[in-house]
Amino acid sequence: MMGRENTPQSSLFYTGINLDKRVRSDHVLRKVARLVEFDFVYGEVKESYGYNGNVSVPPPMILKLMLLLVLYNVRSERELMATLPERLDWLWFLGLELDSEIPDHSVLSKARRRWGVELFRSFFERIVWQCVQSGLVDGRKLFCDSSLVEADASCNSVLDMQGLKRYLNPAYRELEARLEEREQKEKEQPKDDPPASTPRQNMVNQRFTSSTDPDASVVRKGQGKPKLYYQTHRGIDAAYGVITATVIGPGDENEAHRLGGLLQDHLAHTQRSAEVVVADSKYGTTANFLECYDRGIAAHIPVLKQTQDKQERRREIFPESLFVYSPQTDTYTCPAGQTLRRRKYWNTRKAFEYVTARGVCRQCPLRIQCTRSQSAGRTLKRHERQEILDNLRAQAQSRPAKRDIRIRQHFMECSFAQAKRFGFKRARWRGQWRVQIQDYLIAVVQNLQLLIARGWPKPRAAVAARTNATLGFGILDSFALQQATWVQMA
Ligand code: SF4
Repeated sequence: MMGRENTPQSSLFYTGINLDKRVRSDHVLRKVARLVEFDFVYGEVKESYGYNGNVSVPPPMILKLMLLLVLYNVRSERELMATLPERLDWLWFLGLELDSEIPDHSVLSKARRRWGVELFRSFFERIVWQCVQSGLVDGRKLFCDSSLVEADASCNSVLDMQGLKRYLNPAYRELEARLEEREQKEKEQPKDDPPASTPRQNMVNQRFTSSTDPDASVVRKGQGKPKLYYQTHRGIDAAYGVITATVIGPGDENEAHRLGGLLQDHLAHTQRSAEVVVADSKYGTTANFLECYDRGIAAHIPVLKQTQDKQERRREIFPESLFVYSPQTDTYTCPAGQTLRRRKYWNTRKAFEYVTARGVCRQCPLRIQCTRSQSAGRTLKRHERQEILDNLRAQAQSRPAKRDIRIRQHFMECSFAQAKRFGFKRARWRGQWRVQIQDYLIAVVQNLQLLIARGWPKPRAAVAARTNATLGFGILDSFALQQATWVQMA
């Protein structure tokens, strides 16, 4: 006999519902709950709460809510809270009952302001450490790259800081007051604290700024219209693709400056120093090659100088590679057979300048192919550590380096493409520090995804971790126990 739907539902009041039984055993949130000890938040944020007054939403629950926001790429915090009562799995994950009071969406923004970026950095570091303890991080090879993140601000909010019209714009006056207030706060900060934002890089961003998100920069991507962007810089371990370092900067910043920071963060988060760093040609600057050399790291990075040589060829002048250096005489010989001698030292570039004798270039028949300068002759710069640089650049041309450079492209694009599923391409919030929080949460979700894909948590390890938590050990000890159980199982 065909059954018919009951309309209205036969029973309105249910008792004895066990949410734990309603969530399937292999649900991703079960695995996340077993992997992550959210209670660490209590210790991290206790200073930012008072001892009396209204009782707050438990901090671990707030962190879980933010994780849900990113993991399910929910459009807004209001939508998250509106959807929450309809999702049994979310309620179970948060430790709520069916009829529990749902927190207001504003608790999330208040918590971000109260906790700052530190808590989220700590969260990210703990998950990276968990990946290390689980054997997913080798630490010896690091891939680096950057990607643009669209700011949560319209191009209509961009103001010309030099135009007189700005004084007629109320948004400008508001912005000016906010910037002054921030400047004052930065002055009051202790000197070892990093500033809230990095100075503007290019002329456009020294002149134009957004009134809604002054930290974002105007960037033209390809042939498209200029938009407001941030830039994320990532370091990924080569073994399984664990994100070991991530940092947000202004959209117009030169990514080459971030390589040292990424290497440092990789070391701090994994306790392992990279032996090889792989990046694209934008990182192939003299400073980066020398920094890698000083740290004892092989730089598998295409040389930026060669790109510049290509530009010189495009400008139809002789590239530097056609000038032959003689170490015995410390001179260069140019394509016309003339000698260029050392003239002066450029302190900013740590390089010596080489020129021909006075008047030689002016009479040279190859002059038109050699320099675009109307009055002066051709000059060359030679770094004070040029021999080391030449060796490093030769190393960057080796077969293993070329293979690494090819793999890097696949690795990084894969990581950034996965991040798009978690809302990586557009900032949820305004201000660099908030975008940094979003960046940490996305990196955490991606690393958790890797842990889960590789079979973590192991059933026995989870039991051990729970026992450990009950005994009151720290989370890092719990990771150690988890690893020990894994070794026993292996
Ligand atoms: S212009 Fe000067 S540096 Fe260039 S080929 Fe002639 S002599 Fe040599």
